[in-house]
Amino acid sequence: MTDMTGQTGLAADLAGRVAALMPRATADLAELVAMPSVADPRQYPPEHCRRTAEWVAQAFTDAGLQDVRLVLTPDGSHAVVGHRPPPPGAPTVLLYSHYDVQPPLDDSAWQSPPFELTERDGRLYGRGSADCKGNIVMHLTALRALGDDIPVGLKLVVEGSEEQGTGGLEAYVPEHADELRADVLLICDTGNAAVGVPTATTVLRGLANVVVTVSTLAGDVHSGMFGGPAPDALAALIRTLDSLRDATGGTRIDGLDGSGVWQGADYDEQQFRTDAAVLDGVALLGSGTVADRLWARPAVTVLGIDCPPVVGSAAAVPAVAKARVSLRVPPGTPADAAADALTAHLKAAAPWGVQVQVEREGTGSPFRAATGGPAYAALDRAMRDAYGKPISFLGQGGSIPLCNVLTTTFPDAELILMGVEEPRCLIHAPNESVDPAEIERMALVEALFLHNYANSAGG
Ligand SMILES: [Zn+2]
Repeated sequence: MTDMTGQTGLAADLAGRVAALMPRATADLAELVAMPSVADPRQYPPEHCRRTAEWVAQAFTDAGLQDVRLVLTPDGSHAVVGHRPPPPGAPTVLLYSHYDVQPPLDDSAWQSPPFELTERDGRLYGRGSADCKGNIVMHLTALRALGDDIPVGLKLVVEGSEEQGTGGLEAYVPEHADELRADVLLICDTGNAAVGVPTATTVLRGLANVVVTVSTLAGDVHSGMFGGPAPDALAALIRTLDSLRDATGGTRIDGLDGSGVWQGADYDEQQFRTDAAVLDGVALLGSGTVADRLWARPAVTVLGIDCPPVVGSAAAVPAVAKARVSLRVPPGTPADAAADALTAHLKAAAPWGVQVQVEREGTGSPFRAATGGPAYAALDRAMRDAYGKPISFLGQGGSIPLCNVLTTTFPDAELILMGVEEPRCLIHAPNESVDPAEIERMALVEALFLHNYANSAGG
């Protein structure tokens, strides 16, 4: 049983231990960030991922987990799994994170080297510092603070191909359900609504990615001799892509509802501008509230275009142009239906009879969590103790296809999405960073949660 005094004493005690562990957490994060674990062998040698996985396995072994090892998943990536048996009668909690990272993108846009953890103005900069190596360090710090006093059983899975969307762990989970089975799934790949505002993410948008290729000529032709009537593949692609937005810049896809309304807490527009670092005078796109646009409506982004780069381009009319188009899908719309609509829209929108091919990449279904169970109550108490504020709920634009696989495989488990990735982290962008105070407080939340949940579930 926990009374008010006992809880406060435990919280204070754990807070002291977590604080003392922070120098080590920062040192660990620096080691992790220094390993460029981009799970794309075309860009980075796979040894980096391997080395990172081995680092993670060793760190969780040292933190008290057993039988921690690398397992091969169907996409060729390695997940790190391990466990710790529960005390008699106690429930089991799965701890999730991922050790692969997004590529740095534009190296020159980084103010410090992407794979060198660098402190500026109290934040720690580096690729993966938040997503998701910050969450790995959060797990480790929580476990180290608890030491041998871990009142629940633990399962661990730290996957190695989350960012590439190749689905290794999603395919692995149903085949290895017993290895990962738990009462609560702590999916730590999100973060607070803002620094200091403890938050669980309860809605995730789904994802439908396609690659559209426009072809017009058997090969490039001289723009002086043929330009004018010669069908320009890049011009056709630009026109096709432009049809995906209305005049306000809002996403407009034939067959998809673009008027959804978000029911949870709103996202202040000024805060959004600050978080996204929108430049002065530049408008936000679309209509409705910021939250509507983020979590209740489809949102399209052209992720990349293959066409001649400026340097090295010739006086030629392009014969082929290609774009990777990403669609974020709100709950209520199946991802496959969204991919079908996007494909049909692109084909119909292509002008001038050009040849269009749309190749589907991965899809991920949208997700909505159930928040009425004992784990959410235990988390709320932990957040009140760590932050002095109750839990708040948030939607998120990112999609984590694994969540749907987990809720299908473990229908009775409570799934919680939380972590250190608050909006200022700018995950996936250049100059990704993490607030070390968030690592500290969220590690405390995690440690307190494990205690609270053991007490409420174990009696
Ligand atoms: Zn992530």
